[in-house]
Amino acid sequence: MGRRIGVLGGTFDPVHIGHLRGALEVAEQFALDELRLIPNSQPPHRGVPSSSAADRLAMVQCAVADLPPLTVDARELGRDRPSYTIDTLESLRAELSADDRLYLLLGWDAFCGLPGWRRWEELLEHCHILVLQRPDADMEAPEALRDLLAGRSVSDPQALLGSSGQIAFVWQTPLEVSATQIRQLLASGRSVRFLVPDAVLAYINAHGLYRAPN
Ligand code: ATP
Repeated sequence: MGRRIGVLGGTFDPVHIGHLRGALEVAEQFALDELRLIPNSQPPHRGVPSSSAADRLAMVQCAVADLPPLTVDARELGRDRPSYTIDTLESLRAELSADDRLYLLLGWDAFCGLPGWRRWEELLEHCHILVLQRPDADMEAPEALRDLLAGRSVSDPQALLGSSGQIAFVWQTPLEVSATQIRQLLASGRSVRFLVPDAVLAYINAHGLYRAPN
């Protein structure tokens, strides 16, 4: 029986309770042996992160230090080019057994943007995709994804077959917190206590991250 490994990519600028709680719920629901948080180096779809790759990595390490099965995977930070998910999946697959199950976690918004991703049609050759969906979300998928959804989605997430190739929706009530909100609070001198783990807050304070320049 192969292992079950989930991956959640993100800027994690900084990592917060929304990421961690969502990841933990998926890990429990799918009985994952490991759920790897993968900080992006230079996300192709968005601007330059506010804090350095080393700081973002250190904060995720602080966050998951006592939180199995959550772990951190730094492979994208070693690259000097944009982080493409297909490259990450290929490199992960090269380290796994053929019967290990790989689950790529994507928010609904990210999933809808899939047709703009590099070699997106190959993603399912390496993993299953779990689309994290909010109960109140608009369910209209873009035209380019209709065929994929018709052919590959399963209604029962627990019925995913094999080590890759299918799409399932996971319904979560997310915590209304974002890294943008946390950066703004810190820049205006306000507290982010309880929005990030205490260890992450200690790191932010020790390194003076996200403070407005004097
Ligand atoms: P920013 O505000 O800087 O855009 P963010 O808080 O959305 O950042 P990312 O690092 O971009 O964080 O997110 C990585 C992944 O975590 C994405 O797939 C995103 O959908 C998911 N995510 C972000 N915030 C939450 C949340 N509050 N609850 C559940 N999942 C979340």
